[in-house]
Amino acid sequence: MSFVPFVISWNITSRCNLACEHCYIDAGMRQQGVPEELSTGKIVETLADIAKINSGAVLIFTGGEPLARPDIFDICAKAASLGFVVVLGTNGTLLTPKTAKKLKEAGVSGVGVSIDSLEEKSHDLFRGRAGSLQESIAGLAAAREAGLEIQVQTTPTRGNLNELPAIAAWAHKIGAAAFNIFFLVCTGRGQKMTDITPQEYEETLRWATSIQNSYSGMMVRPKCAPHFKRILHQQNPEHPLLSTYIAACRAGTQYCRIDPAGNVTPCPYMDVSAGDIISKSFTDIWNDSPVFAKYRDPVYEGKCGLCKYRLICGGCRARAFATNGNDMGEDNWCIYEPETQEEAITSIDTFAKFGGGSESSIPWTEEADAFLRKIPVFAQSIVRLATEKYAKERDIKEITTEVLKAAAPADRFGRARIPGADKPKQEEETGGIPWDDDAKQRPQNAPDFVRPGIFKLMQKRAKERGKKRITTEFLSEIRDESMMLVTKRMQKFGYEDIDMKSWNTAKEKFAKLPGKVETISGIVDFLNSRDGKNEAIIKKFKSFFTDDSKTMGWTEGARERLNKAPSPFRPMAKEAVEKYAREHGYKMITEEAIEEAMSKMPFSKFISKP
Ligand code: SF4
Ligand code: SF4
Repeated sequence: MSFVPFVISWNITSRCNLACEHCYIDAGMRQQGVPEELSTGKIVETLADIAKINSGAVLIFTGGEPLARPDIFDICAKAASLGFVVVLGTNGTLLTPKTAKKLKEAGVSGVGVSIDSLEEKSHDLFRGRAGSLQESIAGLAAAREAGLEIQVQTTPTRGNLNELPAIAAWAHKIGAAAFNIFFLVCTGRGQKMTDITPQEYEETLRWATSIQNSYSGMMVRPKCAPHFKRILHQQNPEHPLLSTYIAACRAGTQYCRIDPAGNVTPCPYMDVSAGDIISKSFTDIWNDSPVFAKYRDPVYEGKCGLCKYRLICGGCRARAFATNGNDMGEDNWCIYEPETQEEAITSIDTFAKFGGGSESSIPWTEEADAFLRKIPVFAQSIVRLATEKYAKERDIKEITTEVLKAAAPADRFGRARIPGADKPKQEEETGGIPWDDDAKQRPQNAPDFVRPGIFKLMQKRAKERGKKRITTEFLSEIRDESMMLVTKRMQKFGYEDIDMKSWNTAKEKFAKLPGKVETISGIVDFLNSRDGKNEAIIKKFKSFFTDDSKTMGWTEGARERLNKAPSPFRPMAKEAVEKYAREHGYKMITEEAIEEAMSKMPFSKFISKP
């Protein structure tokens, strides 16, 4: 069996400008770095060596603080030129617009920034420096502005457990592609901290399963939380995420870490060196080290050895080592208790993890193979396996693009989607940009003659604003925006207020335009047929009539949010949001416009959602 590193976490320096409580690197040397810190030349040489095994691997350059290394841009540029997917794991405080632009130019795909609390006091205390929350938020905004994908990373602790839902919602608001929940393993500086209990760990993971589809365009990914797969299986043995890389432990099988001095270890939380790249090549260490061999044919002990989930979960080996002194021992932070020796459950992901799926058993057409290569490389082997399994079950002899599209459900691989795969029929009816299920339902309540117009308008607005999906929130925003436009037009006609009688006056005004009169009559009939349901609409219209803005109209929700900002700050926020809205094609200030504008502004927290 061949094992390929898909993700490599590279602590390229121990230098750091912060002193975080939970850092797994003891950053005592954070001012100068360790004396053995790898030279640029050695890093570049090793990149070429890694490329021999997998030039498409995801390289996470982290630290310490990777931006503390002045040669970081050259390193990233070299890595990207070799074909690696380059990501920076950073505290974000050194990410300025200039730095972010240079990273983008160097070929970096994205940045993961750690946010532990949205309360300045808590985050700054955790990070060991006042002002670091604001700097990290500004760093995220700079990265997004430069076109880098942004990810928000949070380590759950006793202090921030209750805040996780708020951080997830905020991450979505600022446009993060992923909210990563990094579960703490008590090593390094984090050893001194009180970890969350196994029960809290379990509840946090269950919460993470419950919000998987809550944030359109943002993945919620527990990291280093193998039990997540056990929980998914308990909830639904056919759960699509069981076939993915999400939350799994790949230490030594598809994942490893290189430390600042060049030691290669199974993961950042395990200081067991499999060899160092000064005296040996990375490829030799990866292919031949007994340290890795142990993880590729694991014999777990304790309850993990008895457990039926041992191949899809397998526990966290670093935690087993940290708590039992035995990296093959049981993971004490798991609440599952097998009673006897259980038969192991397997999944496509199990084969991917242990290398069993590397050989293709069914021929692929060139076109299908080319399609597969459009998927991020870390997901390719799993998609290949899923497709071949699908084909085998149906006695299909060759994988074509059609088979690939049918076998790879659109949502299973998150952003790693097969173009055109699994396109629901109704999406075709409702236009090119996909709709969330609940959003798709809402126009069904509209009159037949209005519904096609809603679908068309939503598609148009979604395209104009670069939306990847049409959500119920976006639908509400566009509804409000349209109602405000109608209000403005009515005001032009001399209306000062609205009630049901207004429709009759409108009909009189349009007497010479029979088409318009017919539409208005249809609307009136429809409204009259829904006794008692029109009050909210009239109320909303009335609020638009009373909007006193002299520049752009504000929806009710948007106005409420502005009014919650501290008064000295309000005029500046109002002006900045209106400027943003005008420049980005908004006709009115909606909550959505505020959210988008917020992500670009240092004062965003003042007008965050109530
Ligand atoms: S051993 Fe634990 S910390 Fe290391 S990669 Fe596996 S799950 Fe993550
Ligand atoms: S006992 Fe071990 S293998 Fe089983 S679910 Fe818990 S951590 Fe995973």
